[in-house]
Amino acid sequence: MILDTGRENSKLKDRLERIVRESRVSHAYIFEGPSNIDKEAFARGFIKGVLCPKNLGENCGECSICSKVDHGNHEDITYFRKDGLSVKDAAIEALQEKIKVRPVGERNIMVICDSDTMTAKAQNSLLKTLEEPPGDALIILLSENMENLAPTILSRCVKFRIDAQPETAEDEEAGKLVEMALSGCRFHELVHEAGDSLRDRAKAWMLLDSMERIYRNLAVEKSDGVRTYKIEDICRYVDSIEEARVRLKRKMSAEYAMKELLLAITE
Ligand SMILES: [Zn+2]
Repeated sequence: MILDTGRENSKLKDRLERIVRESRVSHAYIFEGPSNIDKEAFARGFIKGVLCPKNLGENCGECSICSKVDHGNHEDITYFRKDGLSVKDAAIEALQEKIKVRPVGERNIMVICDSDTMTAKAQNSLLKTLEEPPGDALIILLSENMENLAPTILSRCVKFRIDAQPETAEDEEAGKLVEMALSGCRFHELVHEAGDSLRDRAKAWMLLDSMERIYRNLAVEKSDGVRTYKIEDICRYVDSIEEARVRLKRKMSAEYAMKELLLAITE
């Protein structure tokens, strides 16, 4: 299976554990995931893996360090949150002060919650820190939509997408279609595979969401920095999905909208 829709995040956790065990922890990470996912809890899991002296990578969940991380009172970990609707420059200034302080343990860890709400000024300030992160500092940006972050910030972070939505029949169907398209199957083969679901408007909407999620996951770099697919291609496919939505909204037939999409992704 070439697709990682990441729905249970177990693969993502494995990847992060491997990074820690192999001492390849970078200075900055972005964890992106939908609003209904507890991204802070996910970050805590990763941080425990980084700091736990008993079970590096996986974390024991019981030692005094793991317990401090869970209870939010570990001296070296600071959380920065939004003030009103956005993470303001003042929060980043506080981060820059804090990151200079020598950690009690191995490293300072800064977690910016809702980082995609950072003001332009805050992003500019953060960029300076990302360009020259002091010591072994680890900066984690939690985000719902990393497209709101400046490309200069994105390029300095290792990006992972967390996606914990349960698998639906449409997810499975979407996975098959995307995989077929990427492996060079022809338009008529995809039409055959999709069968009746092409004609059902409700199913078509769900298929579009699932396909978009899968493509977006493919656009995110793997832990080793390798991108399997060309980002331009993925963007083109995501655009085609948006066009299909517009067609559906304009009351065009689901079959027409979906066939146009399948044509676009097999070209
Ligand atoms: Zn532990």
